[in-house]
Amino acid sequence: MRVLITGGAGFIGSHLTEALLSRGDEVLILDDLSTGSSENIRHLKNLPKLNYWIDSVMNKALLAELVDESDLVVHLAAAVGVRLIVESPVRTIETNIKGTELVLEAARKKKKKVFIASTSEVYGKSTHFPFHEEDDLVLGSTDKGRWSYAASKALDEFLALAYWKERKLPVVIGRFFNTIGPRQTGQYGMVVPNFVRQALEGQPITVFGTGKQSRCFCYVGDTVAAVLKLLDAPDAVGQVFNIGASEEISIEDLANLIKAKLNSSSPICYIPYDKAYEAGFEDMPRRVPSTAKIDRYVGWQPSTSLDATIDLIAEYFKQKQKPLAYDAAAKTYIGSHQQLEDTDAAA
Ligand code: UDP
Repeated sequence: MRVLITGGAGFIGSHLTEALLSRGDEVLILDDLSTGSSENIRHLKNLPKLNYWIDSVMNKALLAELVDESDLVVHLAAAVGVRLIVESPVRTIETNIKGTELVLEAARKKKKKVFIASTSEVYGKSTHFPFHEEDDLVLGSTDKGRWSYAASKALDEFLALAYWKERKLPVVIGRFFNTIGPRQTGQYGMVVPNFVRQALEGQPITVFGTGKQSRCFCYVGDTVAAVLKLLDAPDAVGQVFNIGASEEISIEDLANLIKAKLNSSSPICYIPYDKAYEAGFEDMPRRVPSTAKIDRYVGWQPSTSLDATIDLIAEYFKQKQKPLAYDAAAKTYIGSHQQLEDTDAAA
C-alpha cells in the first residue's frame, strides 16, 4: 500500500509515517515544514519506502500527481496550536479550509480514500460530557480568534461528508483530542511539552488561568493505532470518530505531576489568560471524549498511561541535545528511544 501523508513531517504525521513503514507500506510525505520539521523524519529519510516533498498542499499540480501515485491519502496538514491560531488567524483559516478542499477535490478525481484530521476543538464550549460525535457544537463569537480554528475544521468535516454523500468519495474523519508524545514542540502553545521542558530546565512552570481546567492526554502511538484501524475498516467510511484518552487531569495537577516525576525545582506560576494569549481569550474548562463509537467500529481504546507518556517525552527532550543517527542494520535510531519494528521497511 502506498500512502500519501500531507503534514507527514509534523508531530503526528511523523509517528504515522513510522508506523506505516514498520508494517511495510510505502509513504509519500507532502509537508511545507511550516509547523512540521525535517528533524522529525531525518532518521527515516534514507529508507527506500519513504519519499518526501517539501511543498504545500496548495501546489495543486504536485498534489494531483502525488494523489495519483497513492492508494490512499491521510490529510494532516493544518495550522495547529492555540498560540498560532490566535496570532495568525488568516493563515489558520486559509490553510485549513483551502488545503482540505484541494485534497478532497484531488482525491475525488482519482477516486482515492481520504482520512481527514479534525479536532476536539469543534465541540467548543459544549458542557455535555463526555463529548459524543453527534453532539451539538457550541462555538464562541467570531471576534474571539480562537474559534476560527474550530469553525474551519467543522467546515472541513462538512465538506468531507458532502464529498462522500454527493460524490461518493470515501472519507473517514478523526477528531483528535489532546495528543502528546515525543517530537511535539511547545512552540505553538501545547501544554505538556512546555511543562516538561520548563521542568527539565528549572524554569517556572506556566499554568494559564486557574489551572482548574482539565484535559485528557492521549499518547501519539495510540492515536496512530486508531488512524490505522480506521483506514482499514470499510464501514468507517462516511463517519466521524473521536480519538482521545479518557484519563482526565487538571492543568494544575499536570504541572505538579510533571514537576514531581522529573524531580524538578521549578516553581509553578499562574499566568492570567489575557497575558498568556490575548484579552478576552476563552478557554475550555473541560474536554473529555467518548470513545464508545471508535471502540464499537474498530475495537480501539488508548492503552498508554499519562505517566508513561510523560517519561517518553522527558526522555525525548533529554536525548534531543545528543546527535541522532540511524543504524540501518540494527533498525535502531542511535541516541533515541525510537525503534522501528523488524520489517522490510528498513531493508
Ligand atoms: N496551558 C497552560 N500552560 C501552557 C500552555 C497551555 O496552562 O504553557 C493550558 C491551556 O490554557 C489549556 C491547556 O493547558 O487550558 C491545554 O492547552 P493546549 O494548548 O496544550 O491544548 P488545548 O486543549 O488548549 O487545545
